[in-house]
Amino acid sequence: MRYSTLNCIIPVPHSVKENGEKLSFHSLESIYSSSDSASGAMEKLFSFFAFTGKTLSASDCRKDFQILFAHDSALGKEEWKIEVDSRNIRITSGGKAGFSYAAEAVIQMGFAALREGPSTAYFDGGEISDSPRFAYRGFMLDPSRHFQDTSTVKKAIELLAAFRINTLHWHLADNQSYRMPSGNVPGIVGKGTLTDGAYSREDIKEIVAFAAKNNITIIPELDVPGHSRMILSANRDLACDKENPGSEYCLGNPESKVFIQKLLDEVMELFPDSPVIHVGGDEADTSAWEKCPRCLAAMKEKGFKNMRELENDFMTGITRYIVSKNRTPMMWGTCSGQIYPADTIMQAWLDIREPLRIAPNKNKVVYSVHTSLYFDYPANQSEPLESWMFELTEKGVYMTDPYILWENILSDTILGPEACLWTETIPQWRLIPKLLPRLSAYSECAWSRNERKDYYDFARRKEYLEAAGYYEFLRK
Ligand SMILES: [Zn+2]
Repeated sequence: MRYSTLNCIIPVPHSVKENGEKLSFHSLESIYSSSDSASGAMEKLFSFFAFTGKTLSASDCRKDFQILFAHDSALGKEEWKIEVDSRNIRITSGGKAGFSYAAEAVIQMGFAALREGPSTAYFDGGEISDSPRFAYRGFMLDPSRHFQDTSTVKKAIELLAAFRINTLHWHLADNQSYRMPSGNVPGIVGKGTLTDGAYSREDIKEIVAFAAKNNITIIPELDVPGHSRMILSANRDLACDKENPGSEYCLGNPESKVFIQKLLDEVMELFPDSPVIHVGGDEADTSAWEKCPRCLAAMKEKGFKNMRELENDFMTGITRYIVSKNRTPMMWGTCSGQIYPADTIMQAWLDIREPLRIAPNKNKVVYSVHTSLYFDYPANQSEPLESWMFELTEKGVYMTDPYILWENILSDTILGPEACLWTETIPQWRLIPKLLPRLSAYSECAWSRNERKDYYDFARRKEYLEAAGYYEFLRK
C-alpha cells in the first residue's frame, strides 16, 4: 500500500494539507537558496540525492523543477513550511534550524516516494507547517562510564539532529572517570574504571563546533558533591576520610568549594558558548559527612539540623558561582525535598510528581523521569535487565508526556523533555544501537503536539521509512 509522502514524516508535523498535485522525483534538477542560513540544509539534501544516485546542481536563480529555500521573518527560528506542487518544493523558515528540519522532512518524503522505485517515484503535493511543542528537547550522553570517541559522539549528534533534538547534555565526569582536559586533576584525566579515554581540548572544540552546525547546544556537566570518586581518589584532602575517600566531597572543608570552582572555570572555558552548566547535585550519600568532624562543625556553625541542609547550602553556593559567571545552573532534582534558587533549572528524574513539587518554587524543570526516558533500560526482553532498571519499550517512550495530567499547573514550569543514555552497561559499540530505535518515538514526545500523536500511526510511518531504507541511510 502506498501512503502519501506528506504523511510519512517523523516527528509528525503540526499541520498537513494535500493539494492533489504530484511532483515527479525524476524531474527535480537543482536547488536554489536566497538565504545564507540554508547552507547546512542544502548540504543535507545534496548528500541525500547523491545517495539515491541522482545529482542535483546548485542554481543561482529561481526555476521550475527546483527545491527552493527562502527566509520568512514571520516564522520562528525552528519553525518551517514546505509547499509541494507539480513544479517545485518550496521551503521557508525563520532560521538555520528550521531549514535543516525541513530538509530532513524532504529526505523522509524522498525515501517514502522512492519505495516504489526511482522511475515512478513522486512527491505528493500539499503544504506542511511545523513548529515545536517544547523549546527544550534534550538528550544526555554519558562518556564517563564507558568512553565514546569523537567520531561516535559526532554520529550520535547527527542522529539527534535528524530528529530535531536541540540540546546535548554531556555527563563528562562521574565516579568512574574525568573526561575533560584539566590542569587541576592531571593525574586522573584519561583513566577510567570501566574504560580509559578522555577528550582533548581539540576534541571538545571539534564536537562543540559540530553540534552548533547541527543546531545543538551542549550542556556540560560536572557532577558534585557526590559522584566524584575518581577526582577524590587523587585529591584525598577534599574527602571526609583520606584513607577511604568515597564519592562525596567534604562539605566542611572550605577547600572543596575553591577546588570545584576551579574545575568549573575550566569547564566554562572549554564550553564558552554553553548558556547552561549542569552541576549534578544528585545521590550524595550523607554517611561520611555524618561521621566527619569538619562537616559536623560546619553544620553546627551554620545552625542546620541535618546534613541535607548543609548540602543544600553548599550546592546553593555552587549555583551562585555559576550565576556570577553569567551562566544558568542546572541540577538533578533531589528526593530530599531541597529547594534551590528559582534561576536554577531542575532536572526531574525520580518520579512523575517531582515537577509538581518543584513548580511552587518557580524553578524551570526538564523532564527526564527514568521509567519513561532512560534509554539504557532494556527496550525488550532480550536485553539485560539490571537491578536498577525497568523495561522501557518504544511505546513507553512514545506515550511520555512531560505534563502528565497537569498541563494547567505545569505549563509555565516544564521547559521540555530530556532522554538519558547512561552507560554503566553500554560500551561504545552499543551506543548507536541503543540510541536509534527509540529516538524516533522520543522525537514525537519532544516535538509533536499531543493532538497530532497516535502511536499506531507512528508505528506505520516508522515501518514505512524503515522499509524504504531511511534508517540504513541514517546509520551509514
Ligand atoms: Zn567532611
